[in-house]
Amino acid sequence: MKKVYNIAIIGGGPGGVASAVEAVILGIDDVILLEKGENHSTTIRKFYKDNKRVDKDYKGQRVELNGNIYFVDGTKESTLDLFDEILNLHRIEERFNTEVESVVKKGELFLITTTQGDEVWAKFVIISIGKMGQPNKPSYEIPLALKDRVHFNVSDCKENEKILVVGGGNSAVEYAYFLADLNKVTLNYRKTTFTRVNEPNMALLNEYAQGGKLELRLGVDIVSLEEAEGKPKVNFSDGKSEMYDRVVYAIGGMAPMDFLRKCSLEVDEHGVPLTSETHEGSVSGIYIAGDILFKSGGSIAAALNHGFSIVQEIKKQLV
Ligand SMILES: Cc1cc2nc3c(=O)[nH]c(=O)nc-3n(C[C@H](O)[C@H](O)[C@H](O)COP(=O)(O)OP(=O)(O)OC[C@H]3O[C@@H](n4cnc5c(N)ncnc54)[C@H](O)[C@@H]3O)c2cc1C
Repeated sequence: MKKVYNIAIIGGGPGGVASAVEAVILGIDDVILLEKGENHSTTIRKFYKDNKRVDKDYKGQRVELNGNIYFVDGTKESTLDLFDEILNLHRIEERFNTEVESVVKKGELFLITTTQGDEVWAKFVIISIGKMGQPNKPSYEIPLALKDRVHFNVSDCKENEKILVVGGGNSAVEYAYFLADLNKVTLNYRKTTFTRVNEPNMALLNEYAQGGKLELRLGVDIVSLEEAEGKPKVNFSDGKSEMYDRVVYAIGGMAPMDFLRKCSLEVDEHGVPLTSETHEGSVSGIYIAGDILFKSGGSIAAALNHGFSIVQEIKKQLV
C-alpha cells in the first residue's frame, strides 16, 4: 500500500519550513518536506555571506508576522539556527537531496516525482521553490563565445540544425524528441540505460530512435566543449569529437517558471503563478508560498506568513 501524505511541501526555504512547522502545530499529521539541497534553506546558505545581517523588515517591507515562528532581526547563522530548532522540535519529516521534477494530479491525489525517480503521494501540495534555483551546469567550462549556442531549455532553438541534447532524465528525453521533429538531434547520456524516464517518454524515445529520427549516444561522457568556427565542438570521453549547431543541457535544476509549467500551473506574463486569495494555484489543491508569488521582492517574513495562512486553509479541507 502506498503511503499518502496529507501535505507534501516542495522546497525547504522559509516558505517551506513555515508550512511544515505551522501544519504540525495545527495538528496536521503526515506532512513531508522535500528539498533539493543537502539541508533546508539552500538560498540562505548559498547566497548569504557568513555573518550577514538578516532584517525582518527586509528592504523596508514591513510585515507583521501572523504565525507561531518567532523570527526577528539577526544574522544568517541565527536564522538558520531558528529553522534547525523548529524543524527538530516539531519532528518534521524531511527528505534532503530530493529534487522534485513534477507534480501531477491523479484523481483526488497528487503524484510527486523526483529526479531520482522516487514517488510521493499527497492530498495537498505546497510549492515554495524560491527564485534562486537555476538549471545545473556541467563541471567543464562553457566558452563565452558559445553563449548563444549552448542552452538549458529549448526556447532559443531553431529549425534544420544539428543539435546535441545532454542528459538522462525526462526533460532531456522530452527536449530530444520535441526538437527531433524539425532538427537532426543526438541525445547523449553518460550511462548506458535510462532508469529515470517515465513510460510514455520511454515509448516515444524508442519510437524516434528506432525510426531513425533521433540518434542515441549512450555510455559516453563529455570531457570538454570548444569553440570552432563559431560553433560548439564537443569532445567525448571515447576520444571522438563532433561539431554541432547547438548543445542543450537538461541535467537537472529546472528554472522556477519551467517547473511551474511542468506542474500544469498557469503563470502570468512575468512568470508569476496565478493564485487565489488563499494562495491556491490554477490546479486546485496546489498552493504556492514565498518568493515565487512576487514579480520581484519577497522576504523571509512574507514567506513565513504564506506558509501559516496556507496550512490553515488546507486544515479546513482535510476531513
Ligand atoms: C543575498 C540575499 C540576501 C537576502 N537578505 C534578506 C534579509 O535580510 N531578510 C529577508 O527577509 N529576506 C532576505 N532575502 C530574501 C529571502 O532570502 C527570500 O525572500 C526567502 O528566502 C524566500 O523564501 P522561499 O521559501 O520563497 O524561497 P527560498 O529561500 O529560495 O527556498 C526555496 C527552496 O526550494 C528548494 N528547491 C528549489 N527547487 C526545488 C525542487 N524542484 N525540488 C525540491 N526543492 C527545491 C531550494 O533548494 C530552496 O532551498 C535575501 C535574499 C538574498 C538572495
